[in-house]
Amino acid sequence: MEEWRRVLADSIVKPKDLAERFGLDEKEIEAIVGPYPMRITPTVLGTIKEKGDAIWKQVVPETIELDDLDAEDDPLEEDMMSPVPHLVHRYPDRVLLMVTNQCPIYCRFCTRKRLVGKPGFLKKGELDRAITYLRQHPEVRDVILSGGDPLLLPDHLLERVLKALRTIPHLEIIRIGSRVPGTLPERITPKLCEMIKKYHPLYMNLHFNHPDELTPAVKAACGLLADAGVPLGAQTVLLKGVNDDPEIMKRLVHQLLLARVKPYYLYQADLTKGTNHFRTTVETGLAIIKALQGHTSGMAVPHFVIDAPGGGGKIPLLPGEYLVNLDEDGAMLRNYENKTFHYPQPSLTPTLAPGGRGEAEGARRELPMVGAPSSWGACANGDGGLGDL
Ligand SMILES: *Cc1c(COP(=O)(O)O)cnc(C)c1O
Ligand code: SF4
Repeated sequence: MEEWRRVLADSIVKPKDLAERFGLDEKEIEAIVGPYPMRITPTVLGTIKEKGDAIWKQVVPETIELDDLDAEDDPLEEDMMSPVPHLVHRYPDRVLLMVTNQCPIYCRFCTRKRLVGKPGFLKKGELDRAITYLRQHPEVRDVILSGGDPLLLPDHLLERVLKALRTIPHLEIIRIGSRVPGTLPERITPKLCEMIKKYHPLYMNLHFNHPDELTPAVKAACGLLADAGVPLGAQTVLLKGVNDDPEIMKRLVHQLLLARVKPYYLYQADLTKGTNHFRTTVETGLAIIKALQGHTSGMAVPHFVIDAPGGGGKIPLLPGEYLVNLDEDGAMLRNYENKTFHYPQPSLTPTLAPGGRGEAEGARRELPMVGAPSSWGACANGDGGLGDL
C-alpha cells in the first residue's frame, strides 16, 4: 500500500474515535454522520488547537447541520445542467467533470454535501460517455476535474482520465480542483507529479480557508506541484467563525503566496441544506476585499463571487465605493485611501462628435500632456528604451 493510503486510513471516520478523542457524545455524532459522513486526516487533526477553533468548525460534525430543513440539496442546480452523468455544462466553453465522491476530509459546509462521501469513482462506461460528449462539443476548451476530490484517485485511474481527455483535439486546458495538498500532503508524491506533468497545460485550484492550514508539510506539497509546472490557485469559502475577518484573510492570502499559490476565488457560502450556520452577510466579503485591495499585493487579492442560487453561475462583486459615478464625462473613482479621482472618457474628436458637439468641447477633454523629453519616444537603441535597466 502506498504511504498516503496508510495515512488516509488513519483518519478519524468513526463517531466513537472522535467522541473519545474530544469527549463528545457519540450518539449525537452518529446521527449526523449517517446523512453527512465525516473524515479528518492526521494533518487536519494536528492543526486543531482547541475545540471550536477555525479548523475544528470545518471538519467536526455539529447537530445544527440536521436542523436546516428548508434549504435545498442542490442550490446551484448542477443536476439539471448535467447532459451526461457526472458532467456539468453551465458555461459556454468549460465543463466540470466529477470523477469521484471521495474527499480527504468532509467539509461540514460542502456545497455538494448531497454527494460527497458516498462510495464510488467514475466508472469506465461513464468516462467513455463524458469523453464522447466532449468530442461532440468543440466549444469546450477547458475541463475542470472535480468531485469529490480528483487527487484521491490512484495514479493509474487519474492518468486514465487525463489521457482520455488529451485525445480530444479541441481541449486546451485541464484543471483539477483539490483539497488534498492542504489536508493530505503525503498524497503529493514525486511519482504523481511526474505523471501529471505529461498532461500540461494543467492547472490546479486548491481549497484553503485558514492560514493555519498552511503547515510546512502542506507548503512542501504545493512546492512539488509548482516545481512540476502546475500553476496553483486557491479557492476559499467565506465561513462564519472560520475566516470572516479581514486580518485572518490577509494572513491566509500571504501564506498562500508564500506557498506559490495565487488566491483565485473567495466564495460567498452557498444555500446548501445543512450548511446554513456558516453563512455570512454579503457585506462581510465586500469588507474583506476592501481591506485587501490596495493594502497588500494585488496578487494576493481573490475575486469575491457569489455562485447564484438557481444555477446563474459565479457573479463577481466589488465594493460599490470604488466607482462613485460614471457618465459621458468620465469616471469618478475612489481609491483604497478613500481619496477620489477623476478619469475622463476618451475625448470625442470633432468630426465624430454627434450633432452640435463643438471642437472646443472636444479639445477641453484632452488630457494634458505630461512633459516628457521628446527623445524618449525614439527608442534609438531599439530595445524599447529599457537598455539602461
Ligand atoms: C466554477 C465553475 C466553473 C469554472 O468557472 P471559472 O470561473 O472558469 O473558474 C465551470 N463550471 C461550473 C459548473 C462551475 O461551477
Ligand atoms: S473537499 Fe471539497 S468537495 Fe470535498 S467535502 Fe470539502 S468542499 Fe466538499
